[in-house]
Amino acid sequence: MIGAGQAGLSAAYHLRRRGFAPYTGFVVLDADAAPGGAWAHRSPSLRMATVHGFHDLPDFELPPADPQAPAREVVPGYFAAYEAKHALPVVRPVRVRAVRPLPDGRLLVDTDAGPWTARALVNATGTWSRPFLPHYPGHFAGRQLHYADYRGPESFAGQRVVVVGGGASAIQVLSELGGVAETVWVTRSEPVFHEGPFTPEYGRAVVAEVEKRVRQGLPVRSVVSVTGLGPSVAYRRAEQLGVLRRRPVFDRLTEHGVAWGDHELPVDAIVWATGFRAETTHLAPLGLREPGGGIRVDGTRATADPRIHLVGYGPSASTIGANRAGRAAVNELVELLGDPRTAAA
Ligand code: FAD
Repeated sequence: MIGAGQAGLSAAYHLRRRGFAPYTGFVVLDADAAPGGAWAHRSPSLRMATVHGFHDLPDFELPPADPQAPAREVVPGYFAAYEAKHALPVVRPVRVRAVRPLPDGRLLVDTDAGPWTARALVNATGTWSRPFLPHYPGHFAGRQLHYADYRGPESFAGQRVVVVGGGASAIQVLSELGGVAETVWVTRSEPVFHEGPFTPEYGRAVVAEVEKRVRQGLPVRSVVSVTGLGPSVAYRRAEQLGVLRRRPVFDRLTEHGVAWGDHELPVDAIVWATGFRAETTHLAPLGLREPGGGIRVDGTRATADPRIHLVGYGPSASTIGANRAGRAAVNELVELLGDPRTAAA
């Protein structure tokens, strides 16, 4: 397995439950030095109260947490306890550089800590290491950063800041900068606000929509791009602060700001809350990518190679989706590889 975030830990739990032996039957290789996956890298200003909704890993609840505690401390602490409780064989820090097919039908996993071989692979590498920055003509000489590097509002005090993006991370940034800085919110298309409750039926419809794209081998869209923005704590705060007045995105960058046609707006900083892409570059030698740009998957299985499962990918890129995908991937692996308990008997 590659990756020990929510998706990887869920799959590791199910591998153990189905009888795969830690270390001899499977390992989880993780690039980070400590538990937490992407949560360990999020802004210290993201509190448990402003997290969209967090779903516990299987068979161990997240203990009650102070709503004001930073998510980057609470969730990694929970993951560490989870790894220990279920004795999961996480080996870190190990960065996988490439996965290649071997002539004998196995996979060679090439890492910065030496090679591993495997009969099958669960890929749970998330998106955090691939922030997406769209290209706009021109050059801005001021401060620019992606949401992945955003660490809270303090360093923007008194400045004029453009926030680019129509997702939940843009709303978080706006809700924190409002009242501290002058914000200008720009999005490519009109943001979609979901007014009603997030019922299970609505959730299933959203997941089906994302799944449809992934089954066609198209690039993965974020779940929020389909759900629309929900009435989160951050959203309500941003609304109260009056910072949700959206403008269409500028058409170019200038030395001191951004411009729409002849109209230039001087700004101090640009925060690109423009999302992430799935981290699958190390899978390139397997040739899984479709002409549409994505990896076509059926459930969690790569259609081009049934040994490869992607969890936390596309419709399973949320804490609840990651949990389900972990179980689904392991069920399929037991079918592919045989039941380890029967093999051992
Ligand atoms: P990650 O948590 O990113 O874990 C991936 C792991 O793989 C990392 O530990 C990384 O070190 C490792 N890795 C990556 N590449 C390699 C490599 N080459 N070799 C070895 N290891 C590697 N979901 C919610 O349910 N609620 C929310 O409020 C929420 N907010 C979000 C906010 C943002 C900004 C983002 C980007 C996502 C958010 N999500 C939220 C989605 C959710 O965080 C993830 O989908 C979920 O946690 C599943 O994570 P993961 O296990 O797929 O990936």
